[in-house]
Amino acid sequence: MKIDLHSHTTASDGQLTPTELMLRAANMQVDVLALTDHDTLGGIDEARAAIAEHDLKLTVIAGIEVSTLWQGFGIHIVGLNVDTNNAEFNHFVSEQKRIREERALRIGEKLERTGFHGVYEQAQAAAKDGEITRAHFGRALVQFHGLGSMAEAFKRFLGKGKAGDVKAQWPSIEMAVNAIQSAGGEAVLAHPLKYDLSTKWIRRLVSHFADVQGDAVEVAGPGVTGQKQLLIHEIVAEAGLKGSVGSDFHAPGRWTELGRFTRVLPNVSPIWQNWPLTSTL
Ligand code: AMP
Ligand code: MN
Ligand code: MN
Ligand code: MN
Repeated sequence: MKIDLHSHTTASDGQLTPTELMLRAANMQVDVLALTDHDTLGGIDEARAAIAEHDLKLTVIAGIEVSTLWQGFGIHIVGLNVDTNNAEFNHFVSEQKRIREERALRIGEKLERTGFHGVYEQAQAAAKDGEITRAHFGRALVQFHGLGSMAEAFKRFLGKGKAGDVKAQWPSIEMAVNAIQSAGGEAVLAHPLKYDLSTKWIRRLVSHFADVQGDAVEVAGPGVTGQKQLLIHEIVAEAGLKGSVGSDFHAPGRWTELGRFTRVLPNVSPIWQNWPLTSTL
């Protein structure tokens, strides 16, 4: 079974529309795909409609990637199987969007002062109707301001401690977990190896996530191989949490593809173990 529980569309910083993403997933023979855009449920209705319209053999999971702040680090919590009609959760999400927009304005101001004229408008234009993210600022810096790559844009201007870094008032991990679970969803700590944390701090983060009753941690994804793969499984098994998997797909490219990272090692239970999936597969 090909299962992928982390992906993005034009509702945030992905490059494919929800319809295009569903068609690509079906093409890649993915059986289950979670749509997890940054701080929005905006792509899910279109994704569901596309599956119905094109009669795709694909189960879409309603998800979201919630931005939080923990010990000064921006930590992402994926929510899976959330009730998209839950009023309280929709209120939580609209607050996330407000924080995101406010942060984008401040990033724009700081980058403007650094000499990147018009970068806020350019990032906003790149985001179109979707939620604006630092990825849109990265694209603007590459497209209009001579930066060589997204990696360079983040390394020099958008990353922690750089000129465009803004401390946003994101909620705590605990608040995100509670919001997701109150909407019937499961909370997953996203890409634990991508926060530039030492092993000691990754252990602290996972153990905090278990303390606040999180459900699972991503143990498979781009770059999670060899010793890193074993280490994260060991930490997650120790904390008694389940494992999730996901490509964090943003755009067709060489290094990421939908459904490529599906393996949870035997010492960790997959989050989908008790999901009612088997009847449709
Ligand atoms: P935000 O949620 O607004 O802070 O933006 C974070 C997004 O920026 C991530 O989800 C990635 O899509 C993108 N991103 C972060 N770091 C990098 C990087 N080094 N290179 C390219 N894209 C990045
Ligand atoms: Mn992103
Ligand atoms: Mn993320
Ligand atoms: Mn993501």
